[in-house]
Amino acid sequence: MSIRFDGKVAIVTGAGGGLGRSHALELARRGAKVVVNDLGGSRDGSGGSSDAANKVVEEIKALGGEAIANGSSVTDDAGVAHMVKQTMDTFGRIDILINNAGILRDKSFSKMEIADFQLVVDVHLMGTVKPTKAVWQIMRDQGYGRIMVTTSSTGLYGNFGQTNYGAAKLGVVGFINTLKLEGQKDNIRCNALAPVAYTRMTSDLMPPEAEKMLSPESVTPGVMFLVSEDAPTGMILCAGAGVFAAARMEESEGVFLGGDDLSAEKVAANWEKISDFSNAAPYFMGGEQTGKFFKLATGGK
Ligand code: NAD
Repeated sequence: MSIRFDGKVAIVTGAGGGLGRSHALELARRGAKVVVNDLGGSRDGSGGSSDAANKVVEEIKALGGEAIANGSSVTDDAGVAHMVKQTMDTFGRIDILINNAGILRDKSFSKMEIADFQLVVDVHLMGTVKPTKAVWQIMRDQGYGRIMVTTSSTGLYGNFGQTNYGAAKLGVVGFINTLKLEGQKDNIRCNALAPVAYTRMTSDLMPPEAEKMLSPESVTPGVMFLVSEDAPTGMILCAGAGVFAAARMEESEGVFLGGDDLSAEKVAANWEKISDFSNAAPYFMGGEQTGKFFKLATGGK
């Protein structure tokens, strides 16, 4: 079964280069009308120009596709409102939002200024929340929407020098954990991508030989599935070098340590059982965890 996007309209943020450009081109090749958003700034988020977005629009047109450029910052309320208005005025609907824009301000936590932390959280987390909020009601009214956020192995697992980035990147996963529930009745599905690719963002962190193997094009096929009609919801897809894996949070079975005679020492004495992941399970929503707690505390009834 081929995955097509004929008649669908997609916004891709940060699509002037790297992964976003690759996602935008492939959406267009598969029939989508694409809004190529990019602020066109430097890797640390300074500066800006609409050249990057315009260039990708030209590439899409050269393929015979339809696209428009938008140079707004995903953190700017008026800019995001303009991007959505421009999309609706030009194409009349919004089916897909790929939140991809991002910057880095790496430093060990002891050297990091709060301003560097704040800016990275603003771009990755609020720069995902604001475009999503701006398309949400449109997707609800349509009874159709596919939203992707871009997380990172740093958010899921950690990386030296990236406390700001990791906090923001796990933030977007927390965001879709609830958004997937709120979107369910209107057929809005929300997923996260954790990519690895050789781009402007990572080129000085990777050996040059990695360029070919870790191409953005080796990640994009996973994105096409995550924003397709048959997309799952609430999933984290990890992708790089043509390898695809799913990540999830899970919780150990847990142990009831008693009601009246609880103590810190009892927690310490039972640490092995508490942290035994052999029967771990994932949950689709927080309430399922509360249900388990009741069950264990009342002897499994
Ligand atoms: P990239 O630097 O090539 O692309 C990011 C794009 O976002 C740039 O074109 C930039 O101009 C744009 N951008 C930055 N701030 C913006 C803003 N405020 N508004 C609009 N556009 C803005 O990097 P990339 O590697 O293609 O990264 C894409 C996404 O993937 C990012 O969210 C990044 O954190 C994530 N990611 C990348 C990797 C990797 O290995 N490359 C790993 C994990 C996560």
